[in-house]
Amino acid sequence: MTDHTTATALPDSSVVGVIGAGTMGAGIAQVAAAAGHPVVLFDAAPGAAAKGKEGVAGQLGKRVEKGRMSEADRDALLDRITVVDALEGLSDAALVVEAIVERLEVKQEVFGTLEDLCGESVILASNTSSLSLTAIGAGLKRPERLVGMHFFNPAPVMQLVEVISGVATDPAVAATVHATAAAWGKSPVHARSTPGFIVNRVARPFYAEALRVLEEQGADVATIDAVMRECGGFRMGPFQLMDLIGHDVNYAVTSSVFAAYYNDKRFLPSLVQKDLVDAGWLGRKTGRGFYDYA
Ligand code: NAD
Repeated sequence: MTDHTTATALPDSSVVGVIGAGTMGAGIAQVAAAAGHPVVLFDAAPGAAAKGKEGVAGQLGKRVEKGRMSEADRDALLDRITVVDALEGLSDAALVVEAIVERLEVKQEVFGTLEDLCGESVILASNTSSLSLTAIGAGLKRPERLVGMHFFNPAPVMQLVEVISGVATDPAVAATVHATAAAWGKSPVHARSTPGFIVNRVARPFYAEALRVLEEQGADVATIDAVMRECGGFRMGPFQLMDLIGHDVNYAVTSSVFAAYYNDKRFLPSLVQKDLVDAGWLGRKTGRGFYDYA
């Protein structure tokens, strides 16, 4: 495992680029800006980056109302997040964190474009939940600059960051990202790029077995969630958690881990979840999943 004790975090003055301003990207932008970095936020969908920043403003507004943050600190944090409408806006970044759709070829293309746009010393980090960092980096000219920086949802709240090394990742790059995550107030861990890394591998049966109980009509969604919360000691039940993560994301992660382990039936994706994805009932972000949020 990499020795991270001597690594130095990126200085606050260095620009952090964030690509994808959805559930995760907006939160990651908030975390980096809270640590003092100038942040540049880009999303391919028109208006999505501005909406992501509005979401951050909304979250911070609640903290101001509760007296946990001053208006001046909120305004300063928001001022540090710049929304851009082209990838070129990230060319000055020292670190780019990608939080776009969980598809290998799309991530490969974005990183390929980025390494031509940014300086040679840029650190390219993916927030992928389950894709191989080795595979994402395979087509790059400098795959040693690519690393996983896996935040958990919601990024401003959850402490853990998995720092994932692919086969080609430079240990010094992983160490810098580890030190930077720690400087951002997180609790980072190093892991190698195995399917699902640590958390999404270990958590797969939590979702899969709950979905199987539902499919076998053993119990309904609310009952399974209540049992896991009240007796299992989990903060959220599996269906609540899948609704929070987003079914498109959760289904893609299961499919990716299933394929990576040569279709091992333990990781078989659920048809009930696929139905939700096909229906566009992706959970909280669309207002409907296993529960109705309207
Ligand atoms: P999301 O659907 O909420 O947001 C993704 C955003 O990326 C969208 O706004 C979309 O317009 C944008 N996008 C898609 N393709 C793009 C491209 N080529 N260039 C720029 N922007 C693009 O997804 P999310 O839940 O934030 O997940 C993003 C990544 O983070 C995925 O890799 C996912 O596996 C990972 N992740 C998700 C969670 C979670 O709980 N949702 C947790 C940890 C990691």
